[in-house]
Amino acid sequence: MSILEKLYEGKAKVLYRTENPEILLAHYKDDATAFNAQKRGTITRKGEMNCAIAAHLFQQLAAAGIPTHFIDHEGAQMWVRALKILPLEVVVRNIAAGSLCQQTGLTLGTPLKQPLVEFYYKNDALGDPLLTDDRLLLLQLATPAQVEQLKSMARRINNVLQPFFQQCGIILVDFKLEFGLDHSQALVLGDEISPDTCRLWNQSDTDPKRRVMDKDRFRNDLGSVETAYQQVLERVLAHPIQSIQ
Ligand code: UDP
Repeated sequence: MSILEKLYEGKAKVLYRTENPEILLAHYKDDATAFNAQKRGTITRKGEMNCAIAAHLFQQLAAAGIPTHFIDHEGAQMWVRALKILPLEVVVRNIAAGSLCQQTGLTLGTPLKQPLVEFYYKNDALGDPLLTDDRLLLLQLATPAQVEQLKSMARRINNVLQPFFQQCGIILVDFKLEFGLDHSQALVLGDEISPDTCRLWNQSDTDPKRRVMDKDRFRNDLGSVETAYQQVLERVLAHPIQSIQ
């Protein structure tokens, strides 16, 4: 399928139109950014590794009945369904880390009794602030029914991904999701799920630095970033997609 013009360039991906208006091509970049793009760098082969990891996870989620934008992939390129993306980051947390610890004083690594689902406003100028349900409705970022559906989909996705990563010997600490609306206004999972958007800890290592297998290696200058992503890729691909009903 021939590629038409560039539609949008983000921090981690470039989106192109294709000759089919319902299909876009996402090119996953090796560029890495952190702290609202104040820190920038490159992670060698990140694009193709994240694309392959996300493709596998999207297919696992589809097999569990969760609608995703994934169509196909090759190298660092993923063909996806065109969606109207909601300007929201939906974060699911199983273990306290990152901004949750900074904002609440919870100790890093505290297991949460039940998964926490949070919404952040995808707005770089405002620094992606945490939203309350009422602020979300105030800003008309989603309808009340969509807010409930987003929470329920985020929990279902966690219920698939957490055991999947556990089989891989990886603890799924937290992750960020983005959703969009398709032509029939149905909510569909978009963007990517990868070590750029998840906190992943090696189950067999309790050392707080060594266990990190995600973008925190880049954020916190822990080194061996490519090796960690490669290990996630190998472990994920070693676990075939299972049909879950
Ligand atoms: N996250 C992301 N993009 C963002 C913000 C967060 O992918 O713009 C992911 C992050 O990698 C982590 C989870 O969402 O897996 C929760 O991030 P947190 O709110 O703790 O923010 P951080 O500490 O990363 O700033």
